[in-house]
Order: sequence, then structure tokens, then C-alpha cells
Amino acid sequence: MDKNQYISTLLSTFENNGISDLVTAESAEKLYLFSNLLVETNKITNLTAITDEKGIILKHFVDCASISRYIPTNYRLIDVGCGAGFPSLPLAIIRPDIAVVSLDSTGKKIDFVNRAAANLKLDNITAVCARAEEFVTENREMFDVCTSRAVARLNILSELCLPLVKVGGLFIAMKSNKGAEEYAEAQNGITKLGATLKFSKEESFVLESDSIARETYVFKKGRPTPKEFPRKYAQILKKPL
Ligand code: SAM
Repeated sequence: MDKNQYISTLLSTFENNGISDLVTAESAEKLYLFSNLLVETNKITNLTAITDEKGIILKHFVDCASISRYIPTNYRLIDVGCGAGFPSLPLAIIRPDIAVVSLDSTGKKIDFVNRAAANLKLDNITAVCARAEEFVTENREMFDVCTSRAVARLNILSELCLPLVKVGGLFIAMKSNKGAEEYAEAQNGITKLGATLKFSKEESFVLESDSIARETYVFKKGRPTPKEFPRKYAQILKKPL
């Protein structure tokens, strides 16, 4: 696709999925540049399994942008296990009001996110290479919202994410299926970590004959997380809360 075709496909896909309000001409152009950079870099470094342009529009951009509706203005966001920047990079592009930290334990992914942010001249995103359960030592309860997509089951993920969230803040877990099963398994642990389910939403997004299912779980933190959490990663894995 040339640039005009790409931007027209992107805008119509946002519109057909009922989220046209989340994209502007300026952000569509940045998403186009980001997509090119992702495809080019992916030829040398394995960053994503989704490499076709329409797949990137649907499975990365529409999917990640859709959670913007749950993030209040001027929030400070951390994205745990961002990989090549999902959902945080599309969110930083479409939401210049939010301040974003993209966190991942893999250096080459963080290098890519930093390079993309510089290329796109984004001044509201910083990428950090660290493990969530270690980064929290200096950054406990510092963020208004924590997002995470495709990182771990909810009973493990909640211990990595909730200690980073301020009291009154949100944890947004993006699940593709089995959200209800994971929530049932994680519910007691989430209570121990100081949060409760605010709402969950099931949706599907389409582009021509392709479609994806998305289950979003939004938790609200009502109390500080007890200091004993998070535990060491081996312990979290061995005995999830
Ligand atoms: N969120 C991205 C997405 O949806 O495309 C990437 C998902 S990828 C399957 C999972 C990522 O989580 C990997 O890049 C991995 O390095 C990162 N990760 C796993 N455990 C982590 C931890 N404890 N702290 C930070 N990053 C972690």
C-alpha cells in the first residue's frame, strides 16, 4: 500500500469499528510511519509475528487504541511487557496528553521502542529495560494506570502490575480469550493486592474478512498493595496468589 492507501485503510478501519474519534490525520500519519519502521526492523530483529500492513492496523493499532476510552486525561501510564510497544506506543501517538513508560525485560525491544519514539518525535514516552517486579522497588504506586497485553495469566500479571499503580488508579489487562476463567482464578489475589474489578468488556474488531476478539478487564485500586508484594518472580510463578 502507498501512504494514501494506508492512511485511508487505517481511517476506515477505525470508523468501521466505532472508534473514529480516537484518530486524527496527524496521528494516522504517525501510525503509518510506525508501521513502516516495525516492518523494516522486523526483517532484521524478531519483534512481532504480525507483519502485514492490514494485520498491523487491526491487531496492533485498532486493538491497542480501543483501550484509550478507559484512560482519563493526563494520566501517567506504565505498560508492563510492552514488547515492540503494544499497547503503549499507539496510545502515546493517539493520546499526546498522557505520559507513558514502556517497560520490558528484553533490551532489543526497548531499543526499538526508543528508536520509534525518537523517529516519530514523540515526547510523551520513555522506554525502560527492566523486569516489572524489580522496577517497582523505585517506582512503587507511581502510576495512574498500568496496561498489559499478552504477558502472563492474570493471577501472575496482577502481582507484576498492581504494585505499580497508585491508590485510586487503574489496571487494564488486555485478554484475547478465557478472561472469565483467568479472572476467577485471580480474583482472591487481586483482592489481596488492593484492587477490585471495575468492569470487563468483550468486543470484536474487523478488517475485511479478518477479525479479532478482545476481552478487556479494568481493575480499580482501592487500597495500597501490602509491602510483601510483588514477591520474587520464581515465587510468583511457583505459587500464584
Ligand atoms: N505486550 C506486547 C504485545 O502485546 O505485543 C508484547 C507481548 S510479548 C508476548 C510478552 C513480553 O513481556 C515480552 O517482550 C517479555 O520480554 C515481556 N515480559 C515478560 N515478563 C516480564 C516482566 N516480569 N517484566 C517485564 N517484561 C516482561
